[in-house]
Amino acid sequence: MPANVPRDVDLLIEARWILPMSDGLPTLENHAIAVHDGRLLGPWPQAESALHVRPERVVRLEHHALLPGLINAHNHAGMSLMRGFADDLPLMTWLNQHIWPAESAYVTHEFVADGTRLACAEMLRGGTTTFADMYLSPEAVAEVVAPLGMRVQLCTPLIDFPTPWAPDFTTGLMKTDALRDQLAGYPRISLALGPHAPYTVGDASLDRLLETQHHLGLPIQMHVHETADEVERGMAQDGKRPLRRLFDAGLLGPHFQAVHMTQIDDSDLEILCETKTRVIHCPQSNLKLASGFCPVARLLDNDIAVALGTDGAASNNDLDMFDEMKCAALLAKGVSGDAAALPAMAALAMATREGARVLGMESHLGRLQEGFEADLIAVDLDKINSVPVHHPASAIVYAVNSQQVSHVWIGGEAHVVDGQLTSLDSDAIVAESQRYRDIMRHFPAQGDH
Ligand SMILES: [Zn+2]
Repeated sequence: MPANVPRDVDLLIEARWILPMSDGLPTLENHAIAVHDGRLLGPWPQAESALHVRPERVVRLEHHALLPGLINAHNHAGMSLMRGFADDLPLMTWLNQHIWPAESAYVTHEFVADGTRLACAEMLRGGTTTFADMYLSPEAVAEVVAPLGMRVQLCTPLIDFPTPWAPDFTTGLMKTDALRDQLAGYPRISLALGPHAPYTVGDASLDRLLETQHHLGLPIQMHVHETADEVERGMAQDGKRPLRRLFDAGLLGPHFQAVHMTQIDDSDLEILCETKTRVIHCPQSNLKLASGFCPVARLLDNDIAVALGTDGAASNNDLDMFDEMKCAALLAKGVSGDAAALPAMAALAMATREGARVLGMESHLGRLQEGFEADLIAVDLDKINSVPVHHPASAIVYAVNSQQVSHVWIGGEAHVVDGQLTSLDSDAIVAESQRYRDIMRHFPAQGDH
């Protein structure tokens, strides 16, 4: 086809600002981007788009910023039903006395499906189009997410004690293998191994994990160095820091996604750099559980890929990536003592382009660039809390809230239109979720709460 013949396309979106989040492309004003067969074309100046495309539909967003769909790189979606269930506790008390007993008592396939539906509704409404999930019953997560069309990296829950999903670590690995076959026809669902943490996975299990990783070629996502206590206990038990133990076990590399990393000394930094291990930063969860602070600015200075995650709603207590970006930017400044640390655009990159990189999806996701997946969101900046807009990235990271997301598309399909969730029934989900308040009311460990 000659270059001067406009192409028929499904959709053209004209926006006041476009943040492509692509190397070398600045924030664009009064540009348009097209969508066809789920992929992006453009962007171009609005006045020139007729030279390139003949759209079936046009959406005009006159005071909005258009950006890639947000990527929440660490979540436990089913735990949304435990939002506010056990607050204001340190990590191990929270896990041992509240979360793990409650999971034994209540978590079923149906619980995970209902919790995931709630989480997906919240994430979509707030502009998240891709998430990584680590929770019991990944099959239930897939059942909710597959027809919905969100993108997810499912991390299978692997731990050395019996769970509602698997009686032991080895069975969990076998179930992961089976799940990989079952999910082969779902291109928006990818699979990862999700060993819980160094302190719940023994050396024999780490060996089996390595074998399975080599066999299946899947990424690994694991909570690592969440607290100083974890590192101290690791030192006492193994004579080395947990990250070093994972390194010695041969597990680290660009396929390894280390969640939290609040404790990083020079030797840890050297290991992360040498192996190109990825890091997922969950600032709000770390603050709420008083776990520590990930030195994000130092990691970025050393070219380590860092994504952002909310963690589960039981330790956050929401799944709002706008909150998370702001918190990450503020915390990085506080921790480093440098107000220039993690500027707004870098925080936004962690929630988009870098999130895709950490999840190994950077070839097709996380940027508004020709040929990339049409996962994009619009944020209405013309609100009392975000005007005047001197710099759109600043408004997005420091001033807006997630309810200013007006439109969400995944693969070109609309999920939010004019601030309304169109792919899920919000009212039904709210009613269904409230039912769990009664179901979980008499949980014994709640007596002191
Ligand atoms: Zn977590």
